[in-house]
Amino acid sequence: MRVLKFGGTSVGSAEMITNVISILQTYAKKDRVICVVSAIGGITDKLIAAGHLAKDKNENYIHNYKAIKDQHLSIIKALIPESNDTITREIKALLTELKNLLDGIYLINELSPKTSDKLTSFGELMSSLIVAEALKFNKIKATRKNSQDLIITNNKFTKADVNYMISHKAINDYFNDSKESITVLPGFISKSEYGEPTTLGRGGSDFTASIVASALKVNQLEIWTDVSGMFTSNPKLVKQAIPIKSLSYQEAMELSHFGAKVLYAPTVQPALDAKIPIVIKNTLDPEAEGTLISDDIALVNSSPVKGLSHISDIALLTLQGSGMVGIPGISKRLFETLANEKINVILITQASSEHSICFGIESADAKRAKNAIHKTFEFEISQHKIDRLIVETDLSIIALVGDNMKNHQGISGRMFSSLGKNNINIRAIAQGASERNISAVIDSNDIKKALNCLHERFFEDHIKRMNVFITGVGNVGERLIDQIRKQETYLHDNLKMTIKIVGLSNSKKMVFNEDGLDLEQWPFKLRDDGENSSLKGFLKKAVELNLRNSVFIDITASDAVANMYGDYLKHNIAVIACNKIACSSDFDLYQNLKRLSLKYNAPFLYETNVGAGLPVIDTLNNLVASGDKITSIQAVLSGSLNFIFNNFNERKNFHDTVKQAQFEGYTEPDPRIDLSGIDVARKTLILARESGIPMEVDDVTNDSFLTENNLKAKSVDDFYKTLKADEPHFQKIFQAAKQKGCRLKYVAEYKKGKSRIGLKEIAKDHPFYNLEGKDNIVMFYTQRYPKQPMIIKGAGAGADVTASGLFADIIRIGNN
Ligand code: ADP
Ligand code: ASP
Ligand code: MG
Repeated sequence: MRVLKFGGTSVGSAEMITNVISILQTYAKKDRVICVVSAIGGITDKLIAAGHLAKDKNENYIHNYKAIKDQHLSIIKALIPESNDTITREIKALLTELKNLLDGIYLINELSPKTSDKLTSFGELMSSLIVAEALKFNKIKATRKNSQDLIITNNKFTKADVNYMISHKAINDYFNDSKESITVLPGFISKSEYGEPTTLGRGGSDFTASIVASALKVNQLEIWTDVSGMFTSNPKLVKQAIPIKSLSYQEAMELSHFGAKVLYAPTVQPALDAKIPIVIKNTLDPEAEGTLISDDIALVNSSPVKGLSHISDIALLTLQGSGMVGIPGISKRLFETLANEKINVILITQASSEHSICFGIESADAKRAKNAIHKTFEFEISQHKIDRLIVETDLSIIALVGDNMKNHQGISGRMFSSLGKNNINIRAIAQGASERNISAVIDSNDIKKALNCLHERFFEDHIKRMNVFITGVGNVGERLIDQIRKQETYLHDNLKMTIKIVGLSNSKKMVFNEDGLDLEQWPFKLRDDGENSSLKGFLKKAVELNLRNSVFIDITASDAVANMYGDYLKHNIAVIACNKIACSSDFDLYQNLKRLSLKYNAPFLYETNVGAGLPVIDTLNNLVASGDKITSIQAVLSGSLNFIFNNFNERKNFHDTVKQAQFEGYTEPDPRIDLSGIDVARKTLILARESGIPMEVDDVTNDSFLTENNLKAKSVDDFYKTLKADEPHFQKIFQAAKQKGCRLKYVAEYKKGKSRIGLKEIAKDHPFYNLEGKDNIVMFYTQRYPKQPMIIKGAGAGADVTASGLFADIIRIGNN
């Protein structure tokens, strides 16, 4: 004999019930079958809602009733087209009874737990009738038996305790007599010893099936639902979750107690007692293997962490005070108080100092718990020996579960470091002595992020997912997205990393996709589906999504965007800046961003601020971090100025050379930023700061090669006019260098805490002499490199190299 239980979704429509019928038909060929059914999906909620409306004197309860009625009648119509009298008569009789009950609740303004159980029992009563009649209509022999005659409980309404002795006898008596090949039973519902309808708690149809299975000692209990087994985590919250092949009874119990709704927690015990394996199967995919819960799990090869679950709506209560230390009996009085109030304690932690006891309960019980505890400890509180209870709400518990965790070291360390890296605050921790469960209490807002980062850590072959938000998708942004797309497989296979672009914005539009935007189609998505962009809106969305390993990338040159870095960092979102403004603004601001980055565990990287993709800042940071001291830096840091002075000569005037540089995209849109030296001053400042010198941009001495008129020009056009007019000035500079056999290079220097920038005549034997095109060069003289400097040289401008510098920063964060 087998017991199969079908949940709400599995009997949620005529089509689904047809699937159920075909599964039952196959099984019935081999064995006798008991089929336990839930109410049609969503009906229990609707019944409860109608009851509350009626109790509150809201006539809309009639609409709810009508919706319930229509849903049932339409399923019957579709399943049993030539509806026979029996089903219509019986359902209509139940519906009339239901209507009378709701009218009664409306009249007397009351919905007691007892009435609530009577009300909710209609769901399963109707669904079981429908399934049994549909079987018969398909010429399959079946009968329906009311479980209220078989499962007997006490009168703890809404979650009654089963009297196993009486129930087992009733079940055995009935099935020993019956010879039916398929018996349909309503789940969830039962009767008290006094004959009143009771229920087994929400989700209780699983429990019905287990009680019946254990009474009859059947071979197997199957729970058919809408997912292919018990998953490594709730698949609605963790997309990458996968079905767990096998679990021990204890593991299944822990996971379901800690929120894996797919199996109602009390279901496991009867099956465990009778040693009946439980299989969780998918009605929508009967071929899928599902999850086997049994005793035969070989621990040796079993992975230590089997699943990850959570319970939301938790309140954390802390009782503390000097009067608790060394005084026996405090915990007894505390937990006795809670027991008397019938409050279930989910988690307890106590520091060894005994100064405080902290425990987690359902939020709904928090107020009652507080009042009762204050009463119990009234005297101690009045004597200031114990403080008033601290109650924190909006919390959730996450739990790692696995029998084999006890044989592996460092699991809790990995769990807490993953949470810590994502700035998820842990309010309390509990680990049972069996080490089957490690639980942590965290803020409810962080649940999805916590589950996903722990899932990644323990189940996904350590593939780390980076969630990236990019502002400013021009030339560089496009190249970056393209590089990420092309490297997808490499990153996955070699670095165990995936980069998802979750948010994108330009000055007009912004677009988001939590699962990652399509890396080819994004321009169309942004254009066609994008909402109007706003800097605050972009930040808000990134914060709301609250994804693990979030990274914000600024590829603009905007002050306003740079001003928002602090807000991102405060929300544990890493910042990668191509934009130089933040690092070259006031030293205090730059310092503050570094402080926020440390405090909130959110990296702040800006490698592309100096030398585009060249690893200048990273190298400098590594030198400093390893204890080296920078004595001086000499560098050519402007690709545009290098290009200009490499092309300017006696045959080509200065004005045209600058125009050409601008045309080829080597200068800023306003070439004055390059030619005045501002850009180089900012880069020099950043290098000095990274070397440990608290400098401001005004401290960089700027020996400008421009004329007064050039510097005074009010617009770009005016500036070009002055360049033309001052051609003799530029020719003079050129000739002076040429006569000495030198070339002109715009050089940045840092020495003894001072920085200086300006055009220099460079002799043939100097490493800068042969610097071609738009290349940059940086020479670090340090204590360890006193004579021969460490040199970094290569293209210092261009979209591709800048994008690769940004890419490198993402990887640095990912590898962290
Ligand atoms: P039924 O109506 O069949 O009893 P439930 O809604 O009670 O189904 O349980 C199935 C649901 O449980 C799934 O659709 C899923 O959303 C949720 N769930 C939560 N945690 C898990 C988990 N760890 N594995 C599988 N499902 C889970
Ligand atoms: N129908 C009940 C509920 O929704 C029992 C069940 O589905 O298991 O809670
Ligand atoms: Mg269920």
